[in-house]
Order: sequence, then structure tokens, then C-alpha cells
Amino acid sequence: MDLKITKTEKPKQLPDESKLGFGELFTDHMFNMDYDPEQGWHNARIEPYAPIMMDPATMVLHYGQTIFEGLKAYRTSTENIQLFRPERNMSRLNDSAKLVCIPEADEAFLLHALKKLIAIDKAWVPGAPETSLYIRPTVVAMDQHLGVRPSNTYRLFIILSPVGAYYPEGFNPVKIWVTDQYVRAVCGGTGEAKTAANYAASLYGAEVAKKAGYTQVLWLDAIKKRYVEEVGTMNILFVINGALATPNLGGSILPGITRDSVLTLAKDWDIPVQERPITIDEVMSAHKDGSLQEIFGSGTAAVISPVSHLAWKDNVLTVGDGKVGPMAQKFYDAITDIQYGRSEDPFGWIVPVEEE
Ligand SMILES: *Cc1c(COP(=O)(O)O)cnc(C)c1O
Repeated sequence: MDLKITKTEKPKQLPDESKLGFGELFTDHMFNMDYDPEQGWHNARIEPYAPIMMDPATMVLHYGQTIFEGLKAYRTSTENIQLFRPERNMSRLNDSAKLVCIPEADEAFLLHALKKLIAIDKAWVPGAPETSLYIRPTVVAMDQHLGVRPSNTYRLFIILSPVGAYYPEGFNPVKIWVTDQYVRAVCGGTGEAKTAANYAASLYGAEVAKKAGYTQVLWLDAIKKRYVEEVGTMNILFVINGALATPNLGGSILPGITRDSVLTLAKDWDIPVQERPITIDEVMSAHKDGSLQEIFGSGTAAVISPVSHLAWKDNVLTVGDGKVGPMAQKFYDAITDIQYGRSEDPFGWIVPVEEE
């Protein structure tokens, strides 16, 4: 497929790298591509960043038929720009697409277009420590129609946002609220897709947790309300008796790429890895008998997010000494060292963005 490129005549001012937040600023250009049943995906183009005009009856606004991805580009000390396992994000975008009846796109072409887009907006990839360029591929249903059915037309776009260090003052362990009152996803639903409905469904429970003084919710399974699933919008991992345990992917859990990277590193380091059902009761009793050593979340934005406290029913337990555990630190360092090119990449995770 051709990729048409139109560059902006009015480049924006580059932001102050020491003041970057998350997802607030966007670069000069974006990628766009359209779908209709006759032409399939077509009209692939990189053009100036701009609003998308939509009729008020556009289906995505009513029925939420939309999917997205999240990944990052990193600037190394030698001024190379590189991506971390981006082909995984492209294939997961297609996995999400299937679950909500969105037509799949050519993964290799998407990666090619993404590299081109980043090369054009290269100056926007920040270089300050632990900053990066966050990448958001998205697909939205574009038919103008009321009445629930899959759309016939779609827009796929990619936007880029320079983001600050997640932990500017070092790790910030979080307090987590466990709930059996609200659920995020159910097997047979869309929990394993990055689709809007899952995030809308998580908002109310997360607000209740915030009001109670907690940063995030720990989600339990929707049926028995016993099995641990995810924490906020991250996967969750436990260190119990020296082993790394995480819930197995059963249909309601998002298959995180950071999760997979942590598990791959653990196996490489000969740490016992268990992907299995984990009940909240097991976590509580492991805390009681002293075998619970660490809890942390994993995801692209924070990489690793250590948990200091867990509130469940009338108990508030402190994980370890409430500080960052050695495993959380070790995974964070190993992954970010590979992402920023500070260490070897023995797993072939890095994809460079060549100057084109
Ligand atoms: C994106 C996401 C994750 C983490 O996935 P990564 O590929 O590691 O960024 C975990 N859970 C949910 C619900 C997510 O949306």
C-alpha cells in the first residue's frame, strides 16, 4: 500500500522536556487510514495532526466500537530512536479487532507507517532521563447510523505524545483497594481486548477506591469474586516464597506485553514462574504466614508499579516493609535498560526507527 506524506507548514513549538506530563501534548503529524467494504483499508497517509470531523450519528460515539494500543519510542544516549516489541502491539490490535468485529489491518504495513511517522516527528522524542514518546494507534467505527450492528466503515489513526518520567523522584509504591462489589470484565466478554467499554466499566469502581484513599482497584473475577485478575489497567504479579506468580490469561485478562517481558526475564534468571489462578484468600494467608514478599503491577506506562498496601474487607495489609521490593526493582531496571539501549537486548525486543 502507498503511504502519502503531507508535512505541516506550521510546526508547533517543542515542549520543555523537564515539564512533560502524560498524554497532554501531541506531535506535528499523525497517521490516518480508512476502511470500507469495497476498498478494504486504503488512503494511508501521514498528515498534519488535526481533529477528526464526525457526524453526531457516527457509530463509535454511540456503541463504543473502537480499539486502541499503547507503546513507546525511546531515545538512546547515542541519539537512536527505538521501539520495544512493537510487532506485539500490532498483532494485539488485530486480536482486539476480532473481538469487536473490526476488520484486521496489515501488521507489517502498520509498523512501517509508524516508523515513518516517528522519523518525521523525530525531534519530538524527548531525551531527558526516563522520558519517551507514547504511541496510540486507534480504530473507530465511522458509519453514520443509529441501531446496534458492526459498522461498515472505519478510521485507523496513530497519534504520538511526548511523555515525562513516570517516577521522577524514584518509585512511588501504591495503595490498592480490593473490591468484590465492582467488576471490570467477564470471561466471554471483552476483557482481553483493548476496547473502550472495559475502561468505561472500570471508572466507577476506581472513583470509589480514590474516595477511600487508594490509588487503584484490584479487580477480582466477575463470577466467584475470588480470583485476582488485574490491578487498575495493569497486569498483577506476586512474589510468594521466592516464586513469581501471576494470574493465567483466561479470557478476561489483558495479555500485557510488559507482563510477558517480566515472565521471560524471570525464566532467564531461573526464578520459578507460575501462571495460575490466584485467590485473594491465598494472598491474605501468604501475607499472614510471611511468604508474601512482593506485589507489583506491569504495563507500558509505568513498566513496574510496586504495591505497598492492599485493603480487603476489614484488613489493610502492608506488603513487605511497604517499600520497593528487590524483584520489582530488578525487573524495572532490566526492562528500562533494554528500552533505552543501556544494556544488551538478548531477546530481540528492540526495533530501531531508521532515518528514512
Ligand atoms: C494495556 C493494558 C495492560 C498492560 O499491557 P502492556 O502491553 O504491558 O502495556 C494491562 N491491563 C490492561 C487492562 C490494559 O489495558
